Amino acid sequence: MEIRLPVQVDKALRLLSQAGFEAFIVGGCVRDSLLGFSPSDWDITTSALPEETEKVFEGFRIIETGIKHGTVTVLIDKMPLEITTYRVDGAYSDNRHPDSVSFTRNLKDDLSRRDFTVNALAYNPETGIVDCFGGQDDLKNRIIRCVGNADERFNEDALRILRAIRFSSVLGFKIENKTSESVFKNKLLLNNIAAERIRVELVKLLNGKDVKRVLLDYRDIIAVFIPELIPTFDFPQNTPYHCFDVYTHTAYTVEAAPEEFKVAMLLHDIAKPECKTTDENGIDHFKGHPRESSLKAFEILRRLRFDNATVDKTVKFIAVHDEMLPRSQYEALKLLKRIGEDGYVYLITAKYADNQGKADKHNGEELLENMKVYLQEIKENNLCYSVKQLDISGNDLIKAGIPAGKQLGQTLDMLVDAVIDGKCENIKSELLKYIR
Ligand code: ATP
Ligand code: MG
Repeated sequence: MEIRLPVQVDKALRLLSQAGFEAFIVGGCVRDSLLGFSPSDWDITTSALPEETEKVFEGFRIIETGIKHGTVTVLIDKMPLEITTYRVDGAYSDNRHPDSVSFTRNLKDDLSRRDFTVNALAYNPETGIVDCFGGQDDLKNRIIRCVGNADERFNEDALRILRAIRFSSVLGFKIENKTSESVFKNKLLLNNIAAERIRVELVKLLNGKDVKRVLLDYRDIIAVFIPELIPTFDFPQNTPYHCFDVYTHTAYTVEAAPEEFKVAMLLHDIAKPECKTTDENGIDHFKGHPRESSLKAFEILRRLRFDNATVDKTVKFIAVHDEMLPRSQYEALKLLKRIGEDGYVYLITAKYADNQGKADKHNGEELLENMKVYLQEIKENNLCYSVKQLDISGNDLIKAGIPAGKQLGQTLDMLVDAVIDGKCENIKSELLKYIR
């Protein structure tokens, strides 16, 4: 088995080997290469101690970021390569970090500290694949399995629990039985893990090709850090539109959503259970659930340390996801006035994804296509739906004698409606006349 290496990686391996050290590519890049994907980054593991590595790469730019953990980053022809000394981890007393790390000259020891068999493969052109834990078989059989005893490995670093289901989603691999049982058994250890690390893995999980299966099969793991989802599990929706409980519906819509809105879809119906009413015909309604869901989502996203821009966008997306779709250009203008162009585009995206979790997947698609056309026409003709598009400003109104303050805002708002309703042209003189 041969892996095609970037020239820089090949050079780094050769320089280390010529200096008398062992050096291999390791981890995700070996896994992905064997699966036929091109790796995002290439990690190198070596028997050289950090100061020995630095000596080998004298004359190259060296970044000493992770030196405590044995990592030296070397810049080779503009490619940063992380070169890490073979390492064994000491005891883990906090379910997070090893109390100490020590270096070793033995590759197998380094591979044994890695999380899953498919992540514990090493390779170099001279030796070929080094596979001490059956990683190649597991790759072939598409299985995620802990290196060694799963309970022990999850107790050392509980993030591995979430990584197991993340890789299951991203690679589309099943989790081996013992490892899977151990995932459930040890799930509460995830409470010891920093929110940032959880978030990184969650986002990757949501973008995996098998996200629906993983969200459904491993919902109890997701619920450890998003307990707000629990009421949606098996929560029935007796409406003509829905064929799934709220959480199953959610899982389908996450799968269907574009990358930037996966987390929004995960949380979009989170308040449905508490908003449910049932009418005299036995049909359920969930009035107000977009707003309530967006409020909950805000708390959750903040807790998981999402950046502000993502929080804002996600919250708005959820708040507008169930708006009535416009059936005319006029209704489109009114909607744009209320939720803005971003909200309008979010609504289209949300509805497409939402349909994929419904009884009739193609329900309302014509309306959605029309919605896009309305927006295009409105923009092409520069039709006014917002205060900032008015041919008149707050200052103009003040000059015309309207006092600054609340009334001013209301007047501008009223003018936008007058323009949309065709009662007044969007021309300053006409707008002034209209107020009088
Ligand atoms: P990705 O494609 O997402 O980068 P990856 O396998 O490269 O996947 P990384 O988080 O970049 O994942 O880690 C690189 C390697 O380090 C892994 O393949 C694994 O061997 C090891 N590793 C990473 N995190 C852990 C962990 N928490 N416990 C044990 N080994 C780990
Ligand atoms: Mg990686």
